[in-house]
Amino acid sequence: MKCPLCQYDETEVIETRVLENGSVIRRRRNCLKCQKRFTTYERVEELPILVIKRDGRRERFDREKLRRSIVLPCNKTTISSDQIENLVNEVEKEIKQKDKTEIESKEIGNLVAKKLKKIDKVAYIRFAAVFKRFVDLEEFQKELKKLL
Ligand SMILES: [Zn+2]
Repeated sequence: MKCPLCQYDETEVIETRVLENGSVIRRRRNCLKCQKRFTTYERVEELPILVIKRDGRRERFDREKLRRSIVLPCNKTTISSDQIENLVNEVEKEIKQKDKTEIESKEIGNLVAKKLKKIDKVAYIRFAAVFKRFVDLEEFQKELKKLL
């Protein structure tokens, strides 16, 4: 790491701190030539995930959009806003764990449907009714019959 003041490229690390639950490392460095102290940050490079829509267009994965698609079917059910937040987190985590840069919107819909089904059947049915192409239709009809 070059010194920002004199451009000398030998520095010593005088302090290392782990921040933000281990996702960022901050280092205080000391230039061995001019003794200036400076700070560097190290973090994981996060690549944007692209969602492939049905018409083949791609758009950046948008956490807020995902949340909105879940909030509506959860309206007037037993699902709390904390549960919605958790669900969004879980889905986002699973998408990132796939270690792919692109994912089909259908795959995301499937993930959400599966999780909703475990929490609240009504919310699941509503979600599935709006995003029919995302879910197993046979399963959807079975669940619907059970409810009626
Ligand atoms: Zn220096």
